[in-house]
Amino acid sequence: MPKIVITGGAGFIGSHITDHICEQFPDYDVVVFDKMTYAADIRNIQHLVANERIELVVGDICDFDLACRVVDGADYVVHAAAESHVDNSFGNSLLFTMTNVYGTHAMMEACRRMGVKRIVHVSTDEVYGEVLDGAADESTVLNPTNPYSASKAGAEMIISGYLHSYRMPIVTVRGNNIYGIRQYPEKIIPRFSLLLECGKKLTIHGAGNNRRHFLAAEDFAAAIVLLMRKGEIGEIYNIGSEDEFENIIVAGMIAQTFGYALDDVVEYVPDRPFNDRRYAIDSRKIRELGWAPERHLLDDLPRVVGWYRENAPRFRRLMATFEGHGSDIDLDLR
Ligand code: NAD
Repeated sequence: MPKIVITGGAGFIGSHITDHICEQFPDYDVVVFDKMTYAADIRNIQHLVANERIELVVGDICDFDLACRVVDGADYVVHAAAESHVDNSFGNSLLFTMTNVYGTHAMMEACRRMGVKRIVHVSTDEVYGEVLDGAADESTVLNPTNPYSASKAGAEMIISGYLHSYRMPIVTVRGNNIYGIRQYPEKIIPRFSLLLECGKKLTIHGAGNNRRHFLAAEDFAAAIVLLMRKGEIGEIYNIGSEDEFENIIVAGMIAQTFGYALDDVVEYVPDRPFNDRRYAIDSRKIRELGWAPERHLLDDLPRVVGWYRENAPRFRRLMATFEGHGSDIDLDLR
């Protein structure tokens, strides 16, 4: 049987990629390779367990011997596993370097030794750093501004070395801010939805004017699967949407789905010492391959907020930590 491995497949984006792969590659064995950190949830892939072609390997991408065994015989590897939360990266940056840089290295070396035919590496637009005007294209110089984005840029440097030295069959994608169901509630949409669900206030850092582009996880997964088939080896593809909003606007949209006026549920607190004001990417390159987002945040938000309300019991332990008001951690907009 041909085989596809998805690292981080029990996390937010990885589970959407797994959905798309199961649908589009019905004749393949699919292996989810995941350490099951706090950000993963077995329920993210539970709907797939009836599918006998799927196997979950619980393990660490930094475990090179295990990585070799997992990718042995794989035709495709989609590498999405990472520590992904910017705020955690300020407090525990070594874990980010270990997972995102060393872990990517271990995966690439395992793929090289086992002769994997094609690899898609999932990166982020945060590697470009702040983009105040216009949009970064794939040739823009990397300028990461926090330990998370620095570790993702570091991972890309490893990839670059493997491309040049070994001519490895790797395609890299840089996604903008991804939203959707199954995201751990440290990110804006799930966290604000759950805060309102328990009657708490939404804490906005600074004036809430930081801007992000929002792309649905389903659209991101579709782009990744398209590039598995059609992406040019060695190339980088930005994957982004045109849906750009200030955080405060997104907070207002979430409040509205609950029937609240934003002013009644928001609380402003001092901003982080440094908070990228805007990210923006030019995704013409992948659009030339026929991809475009099918969902848009404005219409899609009620579906997503509704999912977090319905699934609030799965986050009850986290919700029990919501004290007095708002979020006591600095909210990551990723
Ligand atoms: P997530 O935190 O929800 O999921 C990450 C997954 O990786 C989890 O299932 C976790 O258990 C797994 N993982 C972590 N460390 C591991 C290790 N050492 N070994 C094996 N598995 C491990 O993150 P996400 O938001 O789904 O992001 C997935 C990928 O997409 C990441 O590479 C991230 O950098 C990238 N990305 C995310 C966004 C976004 O907005 N969320 C945007 C662009 C790119």
